Amino acid sequence: MILHVDMDAFFASIEQAINPRLKDKPLIVGSRGNKMHTVVCAASYAAKRLGIHSGMPSREAFQICPQLEFVSADQAKYIWTSERIFELVKGYGLPANYASIDEFQLDVSGHPDSVGLGEDIRKRICAEFNITASVGIARNWILAKLASKLHKPDGLTVIDEANLEQVLRKTPLDKLCGMGGKTGQALMFQGYESCWDLYLKMPAFFEGDSGGFGEGFSAGNERPKSVSHSYTLPRAERNPQVIVAWVRLLSEMVGTRLRQQGLAARTVHFYVSGPDMGSFGAQNTTQAATSDSYEIYLRCLKVLAKAPQGNPKIRALGVSVSQLTLQDYHPLLIEERRRDELIKALDRINGRFGDQTIFPAEVALTRK
Ligand SMILES: [Mg+2]
Repeated sequence: MILHVDMDAFFASIEQAINPRLKDKPLIVGSRGNKMHTVVCAASYAAKRLGIHSGMPSREAFQICPQLEFVSADQAKYIWTSERIFELVKGYGLPANYASIDEFQLDVSGHPDSVGLGEDIRKRICAEFNITASVGIARNWILAKLASKLHKPDGLTVIDEANLEQVLRKTPLDKLCGMGGKTGQALMFQGYESCWDLYLKMPAFFEGDSGGFGEGFSAGNERPKSVSHSYTLPRAERNPQVIVAWVRLLSEMVGTRLRQQGLAARTVHFYVSGPDMGSFGAQNTTQAATSDSYEIYLRCLKVLAKAPQGNPKIRALGVSVSQLTLQDYHPLLIEERRRDELIKALDRINGRFGDQTIFPAEVALTRK
């Protein structure tokens, strides 16, 4: 059994806890200081009720609500609070996982009173930090995470065998982790409306894997051996900028898929083929696993640099990663944390508005 703690409107709630004047007001936290030229990273519940949400341009948010309160994001403060809350959660002595800056999980298998435990955690977070958390409890992380969203804010929800069907029937598919973006839209287009529709067709999806917990934590899950994307150009291409743009795009696609599945890879394999060069491929393995698309891209470029003949004509290329492990990356340096948060924020935005809503500039060359 997994107990999933999800902070309610985390960044906005922290700002409101620090500054009582902001309490209960519609508030957005912007990623940059210019309140009209930024993106909403977090919205308070009063703002959410007006239809304002993260990922929205701030200008649009101010159109909806001109009196909106604005605070620019202070990452160090959020990370600090997040770490203190994780310490509180770990203090129960159960296996704990730092799932994201505002989500924490405990393995409560065998615990005699997981609901009491969840209430205790919620009460203590509220007492110590003056912000609320929602808790979900279920047999694995994907259902526990879903449960945590069902009575937000300030709720506790259990999904067990007795209410599973009833809960999934009334929960729209896009509430489910990984279904907020294009995948969810495509499935809805195919007639899947509720989580129950998906459960009937693909029960395995709801088995989840062990989330960020160590290997073998929950049983019966299949992890892919590799993740890859390849592309054949309409005609052979010699322009290095265009070739590099494709390497970047494929790396982005591979990295996104790794992160969606909570995985990281140690080995990056890259291949190219062309009319004169034949095909060439090589791999690059490092001790540390990564799911950062940019890192994957840099490693592909290292392989590309070794390709025979400088600047050959290229027709097809592919990026593949293997030696996969569960993503277990807790950056220590502030710069690494910022990068990690940035990646997560971009994933959320791309998940909401469709893949590649925000993409690296050089990828634009693949679109001409
Ligand atoms: Mg949250």
